[in-house]
Amino acid sequence: MSSNLIQVKCPRCGHVWYVDVKDLEKQQQSMFRHLTLESALQPRVTSYRVRCPQDGTYVVVDVKEIDDG
Ligand SMILES: [Zn+2]
Repeated sequence: MSSNLIQVKCPRCGHVWYVDVKDLEKQQQSMFRHLTLESALQPRVTSYRVRCPQDGTYVVVDVKEIDDG
C-alpha cells in the first residue's frame, strides 16, 4: 500500500498542500476523464477538483492513472 500524495497549489492565495489520490477517488465518484488522442499512448489522466482549505478556491489537478491490473 502506497499513498499517492500530490502537491496542490492554490492559484489565489498561494497555499500549498498535499492530497492523497486515493482519497480523491473515494470522494469524487463522478469525476470526469480526459480522453484525448494522446491517451492511446499515455496513461489516462483524471482531473480532480480539490478545494483550498484556506479560502475555498477550487483547484483542478490532473492525475495520471497507472493501471496496475
Ligand atoms: Zn487558496
